[in-house]
Amino acid sequence: MRLVKRADGYYVQFSISVDRAEAIAPTHQTVGLDVGLSCFYTDSLGNKVENPRFYRTGEQKMKRSQRLVSRKVKGSSNRRKARTRLGRVHLKISRQRKDHAVKLARCVVQSNDLIAYEDLRIKNMVKNHCKALSINDAGWYQFRVWLEYFGKVFKKITIAVNPSYTSQECSDCGSIVKKSLSTRTHVCQCGCKLDRDHNAGINILNLGLGTVGHTGTFVLDASNASGESTSTLIGVILSEQAVS
Ligand SMILES: [Zn+2]
Repeated sequence: MRLVKRADGYYVQFSISVDRAEAIAPTHQTVGLDVGLSCFYTDSLGNKVENPRFYRTGEQKMKRSQRLVSRKVKGSSNRRKARTRLGRVHLKISRQRKDHAVKLARCVVQSNDLIAYEDLRIKNMVKNHCKALSINDAGWYQFRVWLEYFGKVFKKITIAVNPSYTSQECSDCGSIVKKSLSTRTHVCQCGCKLDRDHNAGINILNLGLGTVGHTGTFVLDASNASGESTSTLIGVILSEQAVS
């Protein structure tokens, strides 16, 4: 048990060790998720999930409260009050973010047998590393944690793949089609024309399926389940892929 102080009061947390597992029938669906800037993610079928509205409004509210704090005289009681308000804004946004992450992650895991997504730790190292974690990045990170958690609960496979070239490569023929961040459509010589993030989603899914096909050790790692049922699951997924 532990006592936690939050901006709106004290909480008692009880820590209980439970192995949570729920059996659900395989859906025979696999999915790859590409994290975008304009939307929360685009999947390998081209479906886009919008950023929740509080991502935008939350960032503004946080900046406003932060400004109010810095305008008050240091050590004054007004500053203390403003700090408390800032803390509450922060708390509210983090609760909204968690709620969104949990619900979306459970939905994605329940509707798929395998979920592949980018390993953003690698992507962020490549990206501007001076910039603080934006609310988007933080939200995506939390979403990933919940994806992996529900993956274990429902015995589904979750795979983080290396994001290099996932947006540049053609998902149809494999050739590299260079594009800047502002190029929103993937157009390849082979005739493949897709939304940029849709193309990346397919590449991410293919990378994920490739990982499962080649490394046996990953399976036990990913599922936390009995090896037998998981390998049957992978067998099903791989044969599905071969058919389509
Ligand atoms: Zn192509």
